[in-house]
Amino acid sequence: MPVSNELLEYQKVDAGLRKIEQEIASTEERKKYLQARKIMKAALDRLDSLDRHAAELIRLRDDLAARVEATSKGLEEYEDIDELLEGGADVGFYKKNAQTLLDRLRSVKAELNRLLGEIDKIAAEYKKLMEQGRQANKQYKENKEKADLIEQAHDGEIKALKGKLREIGKTIDPKILELYSMKRKEGIFPVVVPLTDWMCVCGVELPLLHRSELAGGNMIECEHCRRLIYKA
Ligand SMILES: [Zn+2]
Repeated sequence: MPVSNELLEYQKVDAGLRKIEQEIASTEERKKYLQARKIMKAALDRLDSLDRHAAELIRLRDDLAARVEATSKGLEEYEDIDELLEGGADVGFYKKNAQTLLDRLRSVKAELNRLLGEIDKIAAEYKKLMEQGRQANKQYKENKEKADLIEQAHDGEIKALKGKLREIGKTIDPKILELYSMKRKEGIFPVVVPLTDWMCVCGVELPLLHRSELAGGNMIECEHCRRLIYKA
C-alpha cells in the first residue's frame, strides 16, 4: 500500500472540504437547534410518562368510586335503624358497624384528596411541559432555517470540492481510497502522515520491528492513532 502524490493531493483538497464541514457544524444556529431538539425530545418523553401516570390515576379513581358505592350501600341499612332497634336489635353491634363504615368513608375521602392533589400536580407539569415544548419548537424552527441557509451558502463550494475529489479519486487505488474514507469518517484527520524521526504526529515512535515495512514508500497503520504513516 504505497503512498502517492495523488493520495496526498486528495487529502489536501479533502482538508478544505473538512474545514467547511466543521464551520457548518459549529455555527451557533446549529448548536441552538440541536439543543432545542434535545429539549423537545425530553419534554415528549416526560409527557409520555405523565400520560402513563394519568392512566394509573384514572384506574385509582375508578377504584375509589367503587369503594364509595360499596360503603354507601352499607350505610343504607341504617335507614331502617329505628325499626330494627324497636325489634330488639343489638345497639352495640350497629354502633360498631356504623363506626367501621364511617372510618372507611374517612379513609376513602383522604385517599381521594391525595389523588386530586396529584392530578393537580400532573396538570400543572403538563401545562409547563407543553409551554416548554412550544418554545423549544420555535427555537428549533428559527435556528434550523438559519443553519440551513448557512449550509446552502456553502453548497457551490462543497460541490466543487467534491467534484475535484472524485476526479483525483479515480487515480487512486480503490482499496486505499476506501481505507482513507473509512478513517476520515471515524474522525481521524489528517489520515496520511509522514513520520518525523520515526515518530507519528500522535507522538508515538514506530517500533524498530516495523520500520522495514515502510520501504518503497509503503504506508502502515500507526498502532496508537491508526493513521496511515509513511517515511518521507
Ligand atoms: Zn499515530
